Amino acid sequence: MSESMRECCGLFGVYDADSAIEKTYIGLMSLQHRGEESAGVACTDGRRMDGHVGMGLVPDVFNQNTVDRFKPFRSAIGHVRYSTLGSSTIKNAQPLLINLRGKPIAVALNGQITNAATLRKEYEDKGSIFTTSTDTEVILHVLADPRHASLQDAFEHSLCHLEGSFCLLFLTPKEMIAVRDPHGFKPLCLGQQGNTWAVSSESCAFDHAGFRFTREVEPGEIVKINRFGLDARRFAPKECPRSHCIFELIYFARDDSYIFGRSVYSYRKALGRALALESGVEAEMVMSVPSGGDSAALGYHEESGIPLEHGFVRNRYIGRTFIRPADLERAKLADLKLNAVSDVIKGKRVVVVDDSIVRGTTSRSRIGLIKQAGAKEVHVRITCPPLKHTCHYGIDMQQDEDLIAAQYDPRQIERFLAVDSLHYLEFDSMLDCLGDARNDFCVACFKGNYPVKLRDKVCKEQLG
Ligand code: SF4
Repeated sequence: MSESMRECCGLFGVYDADSAIEKTYIGLMSLQHRGEESAGVACTDGRRMDGHVGMGLVPDVFNQNTVDRFKPFRSAIGHVRYSTLGSSTIKNAQPLLINLRGKPIAVALNGQITNAATLRKEYEDKGSIFTTSTDTEVILHVLADPRHASLQDAFEHSLCHLEGSFCLLFLTPKEMIAVRDPHGFKPLCLGQQGNTWAVSSESCAFDHAGFRFTREVEPGEIVKINRFGLDARRFAPKECPRSHCIFELIYFARDDSYIFGRSVYSYRKALGRALALESGVEAEMVMSVPSGGDSAALGYHEESGIPLEHGFVRNRYIGRTFIRPADLERAKLADLKLNAVSDVIKGKRVVVVDDSIVRGTTSRSRIGLIKQAGAKEVHVRITCPPLKHTCHYGIDMQQDEDLIAAQYDPRQIERFLAVDSLHYLEFDSMLDCLGDARNDFCVACFKGNYPVKLRDKVCKEQLG
C-alpha cells in the first residue's frame, strides 16, 4: 500500500551491439516500475552522439520513428525517472547530453547526492551556470572542473567528492562507464551476450533484452566498457561499510530480479513466512495487496497453511499510483486501481499481506474495499517494521511528519485503519531473513540512523 513512496530512477545501457536502441528500449520497459515521469536515451555511433528525452512512460516517449532514428547507433544508455531532487520537467529528463572539454558525454543517475546543494553553490560561486535543477548536472560540473588534467583524471578525482547514493551511467563516443557509490545503496548489474556488455539497475531487464546476468557492479567500483573489453577498478576502499537499500528488496525492485546478492522473490517469500511465524491468526484466507505483497503472501500461506486467494483484481492499465506526483491524481488513480472479489472474500476472516504503510490513507481505502466485499474480519500483516523516517538517498517518501508511524503507534494505526488486527514484522525478523548480510543494509527509514551524513538537508523544491 505504498501510496506515497516513489522510486527515483532506472538505468539501462548497452555497448557496441546490433539494435542497441531496441535493446535499450526493451531494457527501459522492464525498468518502468522505477520511474514513470520521464524517459530518455543517449546514443553514439562511435563518433557523434544524439539523444531523445520526453515526459511520460517509455512507450509515450518512444515511437517507431524514434527507434528508426537511432538504429545506426551501436551504443546507448537509457533512463526512466521519478524526480527526488529536481522538479518534474522535461529539462530535468535524462540522460543529460553535454559537451565536456569539447567532447560529447551523456550521463544518467539513479540515486541522490546528499551534498549536491553544497557542491552546486561552490560551483555557482565560481561562475558555473546550471541549466537544470538535478543533482546529475552537479556531477557534470564536478567532472568539468578545470583542475582536472583530463577526463580520466576527472573521473578518478571527482567521484570521491560525491556523498549519498549514486549509480551512474555515462556514455561517450568511445566508451560506456558504470559507477556505483561506495555504500552500494542502489542496485546495478552487468549482463553479457557474447562479447557485448550491458548495464542495468535490475537483472530482470537482461532477461527481456537478451543478456545473461554476469555480476553486480561492486560498491565503490567504476566499470569502463570500450573496444578493448571491460575494465573494472575501485575508486573507494573495499572496507567502506555497505548500506544497500533494504526497501529495494521489500518493495521497489521487481520480484524476478536478483540484487544485493539475492533473489528478490525469495527474500519477500521469507518475509511472509516470518510474518506467519510471528503473528499467526485464525483465518480462512490469505490475500495480498498486489503486487507488493504477492510473494510475501505466498510465504505466509506456505508457513501458516491458510489458503491463498486472489482477493483483489488489478486494473492492469493503471500504473503504480504512488509514482504520480500530484496527490489529487494519485488518490483518484488509487480508487481505480483495485477491486475486491466479493465471491472469494464474503463471510471470511481474511489475512491481508502488504509491504508497507506510508501515510495510511490508501491502506484504509483498500481495507474499505475488502470490508465492502463482505469480509468477516480483516487482519493486516506488513512485511517490514513501521516507517518512521524519510529517505534521503533517492526514495521519495513523505516528510517524517506525514508518515503515519512517525505520529502514531501500531495500536492507534490499527484503529485508524479500522481492522481487527495489525502486525508489522519485527525489525530483527526482517534482518534475520538476510542471513549473514544483515549488517550490510541501510535501515534508516525504520531507525533514523542515516549511514551517510546529510550535509544538505534539502527537499526537491529547494533545488527546483
Ligand atoms: S532510508 Fe530506507 S528507503 Fe532510503 S535508502 Fe535507506 S532503507 Fe532505502
